[in-house]
Amino acid sequence: MKTVVPFISAASDGERQAWRDVLPAALEEVAEVKPFEALTEEERLAAKVAIVANPDPAEVAALPALVWVQSLWAGVERLCADLPENGPRIVRLTDPQMAETMSEAVLAWTLYLHRDMPRYRLQQEKKIWQDHVLKLPQERTIGVLGLGKLGAAAALRLKTNGFDVAGWSRSEKVLEGISCFHGEDGLAAILNRSDIIVLLMPLTVETKGLIGEKALQHCKKGAALINFARGPILDAKALIAALDRGDLSHAVLDVFNEEPLPQSDPLWGHESVTVLPHISAPTITTTASRIVARNIGRYFETGTVPESVDRKRGY
Ligand code: NAP
Repeated sequence: MKTVVPFISAASDGERQAWRDVLPAALEEVAEVKPFEALTEEERLAAKVAIVANPDPAEVAALPALVWVQSLWAGVERLCADLPENGPRIVRLTDPQMAETMSEAVLAWTLYLHRDMPRYRLQQEKKIWQDHVLKLPQERTIGVLGLGKLGAAAALRLKTNGFDVAGWSRSEKVLEGISCFHGEDGLAAILNRSDIIVLLMPLTVETKGLIGEKALQHCKKGAALINFARGPILDAKALIAALDRGDLSHAVLDVFNEEPLPQSDPLWGHESVTVLPHISAPTITTTASRIVARNIGRYFETGTVPESVDRKRGY
């Protein structure tokens, strides 16, 4: 008989169904995936690993033997906030396909800013025929804040496309061809030299509100910003003030404090803001479920829990 692995999710019906369509087949050889509500009492008490996507914390707590949870998302700030520190270990989704997709998005929106598309769009609305000086990619420094699985892939892709690339992380890093910075001084230094700043760090106690008035003062005059990380890392009020003053030229925002972005939010109508509905790197159910199957299969074979979140660091 196959071991039962609970699937716990309070996501939308559509999202839950999408996972229910792929997870059982992907895990067919290693386990039987069952929604939490379908578990028998015996299965609930025996479960050592569960697959979670925006789970109700009470349902996670109702599995007393749980050793670890496999998240279906890359960002785990909500799980870290919801699950007790002495609770099950949290394994986030790390999918090379997601790094590819994110690096493609970073490249696409960097090119959008690099080739002045927002400005030409505005000119078209006003029927203005006017060209602007074309800069070469190597004349633009792109600062990638967060050099993890996604940030490092994005930085390397930008480099391959000819941009001058700098990166910033918590600990010291060496990436070939990328100027690497770290720590508080490193943040001021990278902001100071970047023409386009890409946020790709996790939301933690340390990064919440980090890109606010003080940090934005370090930015180059006329720099642009892309937030593909999490809304609360960027102080939206400070951003709007910097855009209105002309200190920043444009912001591409994919993530917000509240999602969907409320209709009344001033970001919607701001001419220097491009609003995206959290689409830069969605989880791809097919590749993600293969990774989940591999992680859980290996755990059943060897007892090894995949690399999990450091609860003190928050990522
Ligand atoms: P990751 O592999 O954990 O990497 C995180 C990076 O951020 C690391 O380089 C880390 O530094 C750095 N960092 C963390 N805290 C820092 C701090 N206080 N100061 C400076 N650097 C700090 O994460 P990832 O897989 O690349 O994902 C990054 C984030 O992208 C996720 O947490 C998620 O929120 C977001 N995301 C967004 C989407 C979307 O569709 N918009 C999709 C997927 C993920 P060290 O290298 O020193 O540890």
